[in-house]
Amino acid sequence: MITLCEVGPRDGLQNEPKHVPTEDKVQFIEQVVDAGVKKVEAVSFVNPKVVPQMADAEDVMKAINKRNGVTYAGLVLSRSGLERAIETDVDLLHVVVATSDTFNQKNARRTVDKGVDENSAVIRDAKNAGRPSAAVLATSFGCPYEGHVDETKVLHVVERFLNAGATEIVLADTTGMANPTKVKQMVRLFKENFGADTPLGLHFHNTRGLGLANVIAGYEEGVTTFDAALGGLGGCPFAPNAVGNVASEDLIHMLHEMGIATDVDLEKLLKTANWLERVMGKTLPGMVMKAGPAYETTKA
Ligand code: ZN
Repeated sequence: MITLCEVGPRDGLQNEPKHVPTEDKVQFIEQVVDAGVKKVEAVSFVNPKVVPQMADAEDVMKAINKRNGVTYAGLVLSRSGLERAIETDVDLLHVVVATSDTFNQKNARRTVDKGVDENSAVIRDAKNAGRPSAAVLATSFGCPYEGHVDETKVLHVVERFLNAGATEIVLADTTGMANPTKVKQMVRLFKENFGADTPLGLHFHNTRGLGLANVIAGYEEGVTTFDAALGGLGGCPFAPNAVGNVASEDLIHMLHEMGIATDVDLEKLLKTANWLERVMGKTLPGMVMKAGPAYETTKA
């Protein structure tokens, strides 16, 4: 069974210029959960002055009708974010650090080393407060400034986060630098170093059209959790015209067509993707919602 982590409400909306009202965010989250999604990156507790799109995190968490068996995650980048997060009933914290120094400096004004230190402290404090944390490693497959990111550097960051108590690791391809060969190598190295039982998720952006190919590469190496955003929501702050995350409905459609089970209802997901397009007031990059599912063409 493949688990989709729907990151549209956070990673997606954060990278969209349009500010989406709280009610629509709540509807977004509830509709994907209604479609069977078991994991949602729902909110972000980052500084509202820096990311005004996410300023209503507390209101969103309060308004959601949480369902059993569903994990609602919130992004936290600092101690003040953690303090806000533990006042809500968010289930899982997502901490993020980039594995490239240049990217981390530009994005969070700190080196990788400092970022890992600070996030490790957040993970420990969160654990003491009874909340698990997933560590997301941005630019794990390459950096727009530095190019290749050394695999040993990525593995070292993973090790430090696991030592700090992270319950899962997500390797993220923030700006679409990965390819299937790279993904396979990275997943193999991860398993060699940390064992096949250490929970690993993969997060791809479709910046250069390789998102789904990278998902299959990860799947073939045994990964079962993938991040995606409905409609392919989001974008890339480093390339204004680039597309965003892998589209959730395209990912689910592909897996179902391949005979791979997920717990998501594609029809419901597609309906929500169409609704989301209306909310955003623009065409989203997702493809299946334009062409219709493959099984429908064979029915005709
Ligand atoms: Zn992302």
